[in-house]
Amino acid sequence: MISHTRRAVLKTGAATLLAQGFPGPAAAQRRTVLNDASRLNPVPVVRHWLARAEPQSDFIERLRRELLEAASERRPVVVGAARHSMGGQSLARDATAITLADDPCLPDRAAGTFRAYAGTRWRTVIAALDPLGFSPAVMQSNHDFGVASTFSVNAHGWPVPYGPFGSTVRAIRLMLADGTILTCSPAENEELFRLAMGGYGLFGVILELEAEMVPNALLKARFEAMAAGEFASRFVAAVQDDAVRMAYGRLSVAAQGLMEQALMVTYRPQPASASGLPPAGGAASTITRRVYRAQIGSETAKRVRWIAETVAGPALGSVATRNTLLNEPVSNLADEDDSRTDILHEYFLPPERLTDFTAACRDVFARRDPEFLNVTLRYVAADRSSILAFAPTPRIAAVMSFSQGITPKADEKMLGLTEELIDQVIALGGSFYLPYRLHARRDQVEKAYPNLAQFAARKRHYDPGLLFRNLMWDAYFGG
Ligand SMILES: Cc1cc2nc3c(=O)[nH]c(=O)nc-3n(C[C@H](O)[C@H](O)[C@H](O)COP(=O)(O)OP(=O)(O)OC[C@H]3O[C@@H](n4cnc5c(N)ncnc54)[C@H](O)[C@@H]3O)c2cc1C
Repeated sequence: MISHTRRAVLKTGAATLLAQGFPGPAAAQRRTVLNDASRLNPVPVVRHWLARAEPQSDFIERLRRELLEAASERRPVVVGAARHSMGGQSLARDATAITLADDPCLPDRAAGTFRAYAGTRWRTVIAALDPLGFSPAVMQSNHDFGVASTFSVNAHGWPVPYGPFGSTVRAIRLMLADGTILTCSPAENEELFRLAMGGYGLFGVILELEAEMVPNALLKARFEAMAAGEFASRFVAAVQDDAVRMAYGRLSVAAQGLMEQALMVTYRPQPASASGLPPAGGAASTITRRVYRAQIGSETAKRVRWIAETVAGPALGSVATRNTLLNEPVSNLADEDDSRTDILHEYFLPPERLTDFTAACRDVFARRDPEFLNVTLRYVAADRSSILAFAPTPRIAAVMSFSQGITPKADEKMLGLTEELIDQVIALGGSFYLPYRLHARRDQVEKAYPNLAQFAARKRHYDPGLLFRNLMWDAYFGG
């Protein structure tokens, strides 16, 4: 969660906003300004509750009271965990904002599942599963995020050959706008389960969630460099090999030879020593922070980084447990420069169209010249459950990271880039990911998510007072 102190608010220009709404200093203190990982969304909220889901009975009682009070005062309610979404998906203006603190994780060996509560973070899940020899079946590439938020964006990861996280969730308990609590699963309240999966908190607050775990294992990396044009078919073949447990790819990002070279990294089990698996460590990133950050404004550093990744990395080799590989904090590669921010984009391509997409990117980047830092490629199996599915058929995800200044001009430039890339991905039969900047045009969202109208209509059915809202609802679904 990123809460701005008054000094930080002054820095981001949000002070103007406070001054306009509240002339007196005493009144100004009454609102809290929250932001998300983009640092581009200072949003004032009327109430801010830092909530813990334990004891559950206290949490549930207080949550009901907060929902009732907000509804009676016609205030929206929004929940957030780590607030690493980047377009205000966890923020609503003048809302009751609930920030979910880290909660416990309870593994159930017999069922092969773990239970997470409203705010449980992945690092807590790994810490609970690791000593028992288990590992989360699917999670994102970093451990800072909330488990319920992961379901709410239906995130994907790099264990293979899985679809998004929702495919590994057995059930959730959801509090609706009127305070009713329902268990939702593929067998019970199925429609709500499919709406809440990738539903961005718009249908209710997830109180707890049961998801699958798999045995932890020692894994050894295999690095294969190749021409980018070969990547998609070799990657799809690799993820179908039962021996491959985790896999990702990278493309070269220097302007010269942009996305022409690829690296495929696949992880296979390795026999553990007689003393068993080592405990989960904190995963080191495959690229060092210094090399990664030096790329900003430097073509030379981008070329050096590619050599570091394709030559030096493989030479060092890599053996680690599944849990260690998943236990990486966002801070490993984070920017410490207050004037800049890293912005993610994600595009989901039918594998056979990846090469067309990289060709389109070369053309768009040549005209728009973004500060492009990274592209990681992942496999996402088809998702036939969530209403707002971004991978209705198997996809290769291109996870792109850009650096931009924290200024309106830089944001406008990013908007233009995003619009063009989304046009390209839609023309290729693909889609884009929703938890990032709200830079898509509404017609683009409708094309990439054909069930959008159904999603919005069912939202109005389950939450007629539109109690649960966020900036994404206002931008793409409301009105
Ligand atoms: C560095 C970085 C790496 C990333 N890597 C990946 C990746 O590998 N794969 C991937 O798919 N995504 C990735 N993402 C995107 C990430 O998965 C989402 O932004 C996710 O939402 C982050 O979790 P969070 O706890 O910060 O969620 P928040 O931003 O706090 O919330 C996200 C949404 O979930 C809702 N929500 C949260 N908790 C609840 C609850 N208990 N009940 C109901 N609704 C709830 C919120 O209202 C909001 O709409 C990455 C993002 C960053 C910044």
